[in-house]
Amino acid sequence: MPETALAREAGLEVGRGVLVDDRLRTSCPGVFAAGDASEHAGRVYGIIPAAFEQARIAAHNMLGLDMPYAGTVPANTLKVAGLHVTSVGEVHAAGPGFESLVRSDPGWGSTRRSSSGRAAWSARSGWAPRRGPRRSAASRP
Ligand SMILES: Cc1cc2nc3c(=O)[nH]c(=O)nc-3n(C[C@H](O)[C@H](O)[C@H](O)COP(=O)(O)OP(=O)(O)OC[C@H]3O[C@@H](n4cnc5c(N)ncnc54)[C@H](O)[C@@H]3O)c2cc1C
Repeated sequence: MPETALAREAGLEVGRGVLVDDRLRTSCPGVFAAGDASEHAGRVYGIIPAAFEQARIAAHNMLGLDMPYAGTVPANTLKVAGLHVTSVGEVHAAGPGFESLVRSDPGWGSTRRSSSGRAAWSARSGWAPRRGPRRSAASRP
């Protein structure tokens, strides 16, 4: 949870983070928020890819360009016991329309897919992508 006391005392609207709209504007005209401190569409990300994406978009909008932010596909790679472990997409995707597919190859974790075939979540060890096909698949509507 971000520390929001300073923003709250300054009069910004705050939920779990500093509330921002689809241009990363706060409730105070001319003030933008990005990264761990911000809350967009009910989401506080707390990961580097979201902070980078929001920073880039906030900077464009601060300069008077009109760049929308539609959220960040959650994706991250951690190194655990010497292996890269990667997750992409909706970790909590479950219920009707989702099925769980578990590959038995060494190095693979599990992948859940929606009925449309879009990857909802995957975790894999031994693989450290920055932007790969699975991340793009998870971001497709
Ligand atoms: C232990 C740890 C491990 C992590 N590992 C990962 C990882 O593996 N992958 C990943 O994606 N993310 C990871 N994260 C999260 C990642 O660090 C954050 O998402 C990212 O740093 C957010 O960037 P930011 O610029 O929003 O905030 P920050 O990097 O926290 O930068 C905020 C800056 O503001 C400064 N600041 C705060 N208050 C004030 C003030 N009142 N006045 C002036 N300056 C102030 C702080 O000193 C800091 O320099 C990790 C975080 C932690 C704590």
